[in-house]
Amino acid sequence: LKIPPRTPGKVRLGVMGGTFDPIHHGHLVAASEVALVFDLDEVVFVPTGEPWQKAGQDVSDAEHRYLMTVVATASNPRFTVSRVDIDRNGPTYTIDTLRDLHRLRPDAELFFITGADAMAEIITWKGAAELWKLARFVGVTRPGHVLSAPVGSESVSLLNVPAMAISSTDCRARVAAGKPVWYLVPDGVVQYINKYGLYRGPGGAGTSAV
Ligand code: ATP
Ligand code: MG
Repeated sequence: LKIPPRTPGKVRLGVMGGTFDPIHHGHLVAASEVALVFDLDEVVFVPTGEPWQKAGQDVSDAEHRYLMTVVATASNPRFTVSRVDIDRNGPTYTIDTLRDLHRLRPDAELFFITGADAMAEIITWKGAAELWKLARFVGVTRPGHVLSAPVGSESVSLLNVPAMAISSTDCRARVAAGKPVWYLVPDGVVQYINKYGLYRGPGGAGTSAV
């Protein structure tokens, strides 16, 4: 694993994109581990707008997903949350996320953090070459997903994070089945899910955040 040397005067900013429906400890451990290994100054969590990969699926309101992400990251001084994807109209594409963050944070070197499953989709994208110019990509392994090293890019690193078999899909299914999600998601997120009745029953939309 090659850790690029620091560029003087540049902040190292991790970018963790996700649906976060809900955010769980797998996301938080991955972000924290990448931050440690790559010596990041900050990790910004970016909840997606309309996730094009999940078209046709029931995704919770962006405001709920945004607020759960804020609650989950509030206690970590190096974790922040950005609204760039949820405030942009239309489906979320990684290239737009990186362009926006590059514009907002010209002082930063970007490290896009993504799970092995999502990484596999990104590296096969035809416009991928442009992505490598905007950010380094750090693919984190996840139980059940195998990732072979992508060819032709020096901007991609792979990192094993502590095995966490947690997924949002499983968390939603547990809530719908009346099972607890304590310890899978942060306490504040458990309370948020209960407060708004998220993921209960068919549809599982809950009540509105605003
Ligand atoms: P869903 O089950 O709804 O697809 P998810 O758990 O995969 O949700 P996402 O919001 O889709 O969560 O994931 C955001 C990013 O975090 C993706 O890059 C994904 O690969 C990564 N990720 C998700 N769960 C884990 C985990 N347990 N460990 C490491 N990375 C993860
Ligand atoms: Mg996923």
